[in-house]
Amino acid sequence: MSQFRQDPIVGRWVIVATERAAKPQEIVQQTRRESLQACPFCEGQEEETTAELLAVRPASTAADGPGWQVRVIPNKYPAVTSDGETARCGWGFQREVQGVGAHEVIVECPQHETNLARLPAAHVADVLRAYRDRFKHHKRDQRIAYALLFKNYGALAGASMEHCHSQILATPIVPELIGEELAGSWEFHQRNNRCVYCALVEEELDGGARVVVQTANYAVLCPFASRFPFEMWLVPLRHQEHFDDERDDDFAELAEVLTTVLGRLAAVLNDPAYNFYLHTSPLHAGATPHYHWHLEIFPRLAQLAGFEHGGGMFINPIPPEDAAALLRP
Ligand SMILES: [Zn+2]
Ligand SMILES: [Zn+2]
Ligand SMILES: [Zn+2]
Repeated sequence: MSQFRQDPIVGRWVIVATERAAKPQEIVQQTRRESLQACPFCEGQEEETTAELLAVRPASTAADGPGWQVRVIPNKYPAVTSDGETARCGWGFQREVQGVGAHEVIVECPQHETNLARLPAAHVADVLRAYRDRFKHHKRDQRIAYALLFKNYGALAGASMEHCHSQILATPIVPELIGEELAGSWEFHQRNNRCVYCALVEEELDGGARVVVQTANYAVLCPFASRFPFEMWLVPLRHQEHFDDERDDDFAELAEVLTTVLGRLAAVLNDPAYNFYLHTSPLHAGATPHYHWHLEIFPRLAQLAGFEHGGGMFINPIPPEDAAALLRP
C-alpha cells in the first residue's frame, strides 16, 4: 500500500508508492558523454580558464600553471557577480535584490576523471578542505548571506562539463529550501528543546533499516520521507551547525564515507547522473542549536513530471528501506 510520509523538518509530504514498484534498473538512465577534446579543466589547460582563487598545489608551482591537485576558479558564466552592494528595491509590494554574490567552480582533480567516487579518498579529503576554505572566505563578506555548494554529475543532473567539479553559488539571500529547513528545525527545537537532525539520526541508527553507512562521526541514511529513489543524506553524528567548523582531522573520514556511498550509487545503479548539495547554517547566522549541516545526494533517475512540479509533492516508487538495503556496502 502506498504511504504518505511527512518530512519532520519542513513538513513536506511525499507518497511512497509501492504499487508502482519499478525495479531500480528500469529507472536508470545513462548519461555519459565521452568527449575528451580540449577540456579546459584538465591540467595544462589553465590558460583556458579564469584565474584561480585558490589551489591545492606545492609552493614550488606557479598560480594558473600545472602542478595542482584541486583548483577553485570563478565560473566563466556566473549567475551572480561579485561587484556592487546588496541593494533591495522594487515596485509596490514586489521586492528585488541585486544579484551580488559569487559563482565559483571547484575543479576536483587535474586528470580527466568525471566522477568524484573514483578519486582516492585522501584526494577527496583535500577537495572537502577546499570547500571548507571557500566557506571561510565567503564568511568574511557581509554582503553574502549564503554559500550553496552543489555538484551536477551527468547531463541529466545539469552538468555541462564532464570533468569532475562542483560549484559554489554565494548569494545575498538564504535560498528558500534552506529557509524552510531553518524554520522547521527551529519550531522542532522550540517544542522539543533539541536539534531535529540529532533526534532523527539517533532514531535512524536505533532502527537501522534506512542506514547505508555509519562511521565514528558520520552516517548516511536514506531519509524516511525520501522524495526520490535512492535519495541519501550524509549527516555528522555530533551536533555540527556550520560545515566550515568541521575539524581538520575529520575530513579523511568524511571523504571515505562520501566516496563509499557515491561508489555504491555508481555500482548499484550503473553510474547514474546525480546531484549533491551541502546544507549548512547561513554564513552569518552565528550559533544555530536547531540546525545541523548535512549533504543531500539525489540520483537523477526519473524526470520530475507535472504532479511534482504542480503540487510540490513527490511520488517515490522505491521505499527508502529497500534503497538502503541495496546501497549498503
Ligand atoms: Zn578534463
Ligand atoms: Zn544537531
Ligand atoms: Zn537539507
